[in-house]
Amino acid sequence: MSKIKIAELFYSIQGEGRFMGVPSVFLRTFGCNFTCSGFGMPRGELSEEAKEIGYTHKLIESFQKYEDLPLVSTGCDSYASWMPEFKDLSPMMESNGIADRIMEILPYKTWLDEHLVITGGEPLLGWQRAYPDLLDHEYMRPLKEITFETNGTQKITPEFKEYLQDWAIRDPFNKGITFSVSAKLSCSGELRKDAILPDVVCEYQEIGYTYLKFVIATEQDAYEALEVMDIYRLAGFEGPVYLMPVGGVESVYSLNNRRVAEFAMKAGLRYSDRLQVPLFKNEWGT
Ligand code: SF4
Repeated sequence: MSKIKIAELFYSIQGEGRFMGVPSVFLRTFGCNFTCSGFGMPRGELSEEAKEIGYTHKLIESFQKYEDLPLVSTGCDSYASWMPEFKDLSPMMESNGIADRIMEILPYKTWLDEHLVITGGEPLLGWQRAYPDLLDHEYMRPLKEITFETNGTQKITPEFKEYLQDWAIRDPFNKGITFSVSAKLSCSGELRKDAILPDVVCEYQEIGYTYLKFVIATEQDAYEALEVMDIYRLAGFEGPVYLMPVGGVESVYSLNNRRVAEFAMKAGLRYSDRLQVPLFKNEWGT
């Protein structure tokens, strides 16, 4: 029986991208290959907020569950799903236990129009080996749509690629796979050589519907997104591109959502909101 280290498993509304507004089960895996500590900060700087959360061990020990964790306005808004300091909040769960828990949180105890969003952290790390066991569980059979929310740096293994291609045609009229690729610009604090891997993303297109989503804090980020988009296009990427405002908390998000929308319109790109911020204040479990 395969196991996955689960940071969060909850039911909410998809707040971003192609399926914005769709009721969804979010399976947030633990672990990420990035740290994205710089979102919303001047280049190369780390916010006091991020430093406090990362290094104040006394503070960390006082958190017993996700709902107690502080929300951040800068840095990665799902930081506890990869920071080693928080690993004990994320249990290893067997696929049977995950499927049982999913049935508990689905309103009708089966899949209707709800989607499964596999997110992180980075959900395409080693957990690729474990997903088939979960997806083959009898409770998961009626599921019609999966989205992988990835940073676009992890190759799909040949075994998992074959599995997903087979899963998608088990019911050719209903099943869909989406890769929502949040490619990291320099405002994330990650280096372009590590973050922008177009060949990896182009391979996702062979498996499912694939789009790019850039998080924008400043006009400089928006222009960088256009430049990076061209790199993907040159490599053969054909999917749509979204611009989405930075902002894990409402005060930051509402400062630049309109500017990002206007820039997206001018550039002929799609705009993605972050509905979880105005609707639910981006609290854990939403
Ligand atoms: S890639 Fe995503 S989950 Fe990983 S640190 Fe960056 S923002 Fe957070």
